[in-house]
Amino acid sequence: MLRTKEQYHDRLFSMKKNIYIGGEKVGRDDHRLMPGLNVLDVTFDLAKNPDWKGLATAESSISGEQINRWNHLPQNPYDLLQKQKLIRLAARRVGGCIQRCMGHDAINALAICTKEIDDECGTEYHTRFMNYLNGYQLQDLDGTCSQTDIKGDRLKRPSQQENPDSYVHVVEKKSDGIVVRGMKMSITQAAYADVLFVVPTRALTEEDSDWAVSFAVPSDEEGIKMITRPVWLRDKDEKDAAPFSRYGVSDSVIVFDNVFIPWERVFMCGEWQYGRRMALLFADSHRHSYSGCKPGVSDVLCGATALAAEANNVAKMPHVREKLSAYAGAAELAYAAGVAAAVYGEKTSSGVFFPNEIYANVGRRMTGESIYHEYNILTEVAGGISVTLPFSEDFDAPETKRDLEKFIIRNSSIKAEDALKIWKFVESVGASPMTAWYLIAGVHGGGSPVMETIALNIGYDYNEKKRLARYLAGIDSEFDDSEMRSLEPSFGDGLKEERKL
Ligand SMILES: Cc1cc2nc3c(=O)[nH]c(=O)nc-3n(C[C@H](O)[C@H](O)[C@H](O)COP(=O)(O)OP(=O)(O)OC[C@H]3O[C@@H](n4cnc5c(N)ncnc54)[C@H](O)[C@@H]3O)c2cc1C
Repeated sequence: MLRTKEQYHDRLFSMKKNIYIGGEKVGRDDHRLMPGLNVLDVTFDLAKNPDWKGLATAESSISGEQINRWNHLPQNPYDLLQKQKLIRLAARRVGGCIQRCMGHDAINALAICTKEIDDECGTEYHTRFMNYLNGYQLQDLDGTCSQTDIKGDRLKRPSQQENPDSYVHVVEKKSDGIVVRGMKMSITQAAYADVLFVVPTRALTEEDSDWAVSFAVPSDEEGIKMITRPVWLRDKDEKDAAPFSRYGVSDSVIVFDNVFIPWERVFMCGEWQYGRRMALLFADSHRHSYSGCKPGVSDVLCGATALAAEANNVAKMPHVREKLSAYAGAAELAYAAGVAAAVYGEKTSSGVFFPNEIYANVGRRMTGESIYHEYNILTEVAGGISVTLPFSEDFDAPETKRDLEKFIIRNSSIKAEDALKIWKFVESVGASPMTAWYLIAGVHGGGSPVMETIALNIGYDYNEKKRLARYLAGIDSEFDDSEMRSLEPSFGDGLKEERKL
């Protein structure tokens, strides 16, 4: 089934109240959560739109039914390319983060890792997970990835922490399930998700076995409390602060206070050796998702900069043209890294097709490094008006209206009303609470920058490059080129036929 956004809302609004915002306990219909819900609505609308059938939808590898692509396990490079394109399309519609990729990346990690655990340990997590996922897909549910634990002292492992709840862990095993405690933080869209997918956030040791736990749980389950921070603009400005008056985001601290999870929804319990693998599978899949969303963010910034340049009547200046080209580089190189990650991906033992980690990580690292620069370009071209623009009410007030209508015109071909819309948009994109959210999400989302470095240092063969240098320097007379031979693109079935010709 493909749900309508109304069906999505109905389910959410009937959930138990367990969200706290600013000291109040609120329902999921709280007005401060609406900008986030509006973003999720787009994911349901796209799947219902016949124009985007096959992009926003996919044939389930489990049931064969048409499902929302966010809930689909990629089976081939084409699926990864479609996911990337869908994320960019959706990100452009909402001015940035579409929020639904986290759940998508979590199900990939779970499908792959449960199979690997079962193959090694003789457990039954994979069948359990696939059964659960089948129901999740058929009901068209939306899930988070609740990975980041509050972590306490960053240099101590979970079992060494003074507060054992610094990482989510198992406190009791029963015949019918487990009881878990602990806290996760910075979890995007948790306050308006149907389900929380919980996975470990780091490599674990044997002493950390109780912290090696993964499960799915309804977000209003007994014992779950969410302390939620919506990114919220000044109330009075809502109507003028497009696009972020309509679209926004919320992140939550999630408290698990002795929550019972039946075995049917437990996907790892004690297999500490797989902590790192599960954590990395989510992170690498998420880094590939960035190669769709970050180009979408660059598209919005590029458009805002071009519009600001026009409003300032400096669009033809060479330094502006040069600056705009930086967006083309940032967006399309990130997108190209995602395409390469898809084409050089690999089929895992679970049947899920997984992006190439090297390309996913270099793309993500580049976008994280360039994000402040991209916002800086907008600031340079727009000038300081985005933080000094008078409030909208002053543009309407009789005593100031006429002055401000003159004030706002910088290019005589743009009328005052449109000029105000342009500068409100530039303020919203370049100098609002959402700006700060995008900057910091751009750096830390999917893991801090050092995590990409660590992933590259695990997967990238520096010694092979050294052997090449030794050969070119004349130290060695032969060089083994097998690295280049193993770099074989994986094409989808149709493309494979074309390639043979
Ligand atoms: C806007 C936003 C949305 C997010 N959404 C989600 C989400 O939906 N789901 C989710 O699970 N997470 C989410 N996150 C969390 C994100 O994955 C983390 O912010 C990221 O992994 C970094 O963790 P941290 O914030 O705890 O920073 P820290 O881990 O505290 O990192 C701070 C610094 O300390 C360093 N450091 C930390 N530990 C060590 C160590 N042991 N040794 C050496 N150096 C160390 C880091 O390298 C970094 O430089 C989100 C984050 C943001 C900002």
